[in-house]
Amino acid sequence: MTMRAVQLDEFDGPLHHRTISVPEPGMGDVLLRVGACAVDQFDLAIRNGRWSHAVLPLIIGHEIAGEVVAAGPGVAGWSPGDRVAASLYLVCGHCRHCRNGRETICENFGGHVGVSIPGGYAEYVALPARNLVAISDDLAFPEASVIANAIGTPYHALTKQMRLRPGEFFMVTGAGGGVGIHAVQLAAMMGARVMAVDITADKLDAAQARGAEIVVNPEKEDLAAIARSWTGGRGLDGILELVGPATMPAGLAALAKGGRMVVVGSHTGTELTISPHAFYQNEFELLGSRNVSVGELAEVVDLVAAGKVDPVVSGTYPLEQVEELHERVRNRTVIGREVLVP
Ligand SMILES: [Zn+2]
Repeated sequence: MTMRAVQLDEFDGPLHHRTISVPEPGMGDVLLRVGACAVDQFDLAIRNGRWSHAVLPLIIGHEIAGEVVAAGPGVAGWSPGDRVAASLYLVCGHCRHCRNGRETICENFGGHVGVSIPGGYAEYVALPARNLVAISDDLAFPEASVIANAIGTPYHALTKQMRLRPGEFFMVTGAGGGVGIHAVQLAAMMGARVMAVDITADKLDAAQARGAEIVVNPEKEDLAAIARSWTGGRGLDGILELVGPATMPAGLAALAKGGRMVVVGSHTGTELTISPHAFYQNEFELLGSRNVSVGELAEVVDLVAAGKVDPVVSGTYPLEQVEELHERVRNRTVIGREVLVP
């Protein structure tokens, strides 16, 4: 049996549309028909060679939802026709962190779907059964495809790392992107007061429509001053950082005593100068957060099914238009996520 797929032969090179063999599900794997595969900056980084261990030729694509077609040897619990969303981390399941529900910092991390194993820019993909979470029949695949990464990432960051509480003042930078727009929704749902930061009017409008009380463009306005003023001088209790050194100094200047800054991404630099004094004088917490566990992913699926979080999918594209979609992601014009439907 053959399938259509998009392959990368060399880093920074073109994507090739090909007809290749459908993968055989190996031990512990499940074969999925790809219902949708969301696209984000990580796809572009892989394409550009930032993950030099990626096995070429490679089928990119790590935010996948689909339907079970067949189960490989050693797989129990999944049947043809089951609808699923898939986690993108390849983890061991038995190290101290995996056993503690912190599998995203697995000691034996095996890499990512769409980097270390073929991903979702294809009609079919074989994934470890442990990465799958069931979804209901009424959740469409494009919406389901963004659950694991774009919703799961801020869910883990806000609930586990930041421990955001009702009534707290919360800020997210990069609020109009895939992770940001769902962080806005989650924080609002958790009862926090939400300040959304981004640099285009349409992204700020989208954040406001989904629960942000105040929006700020840091290229035009004084982020720290506005945050201080909005909080009555107290400062921000929780900051979700998706941008990096371009916004982190202003965030730290606006952090409340006992405030937590959680860093999930940085595309504006790799280094930052911080004051140790500010940290101990204010008991600041600077935390990292990495993706989402499969256990948390099941919780996110329930939240979406209950209508508490609305997956923001602003466009769908056939595989043939993958270059057009990459260009939109490269230009950072996408609100929420846009997805491929093979
Ligand atoms: Zn592990």
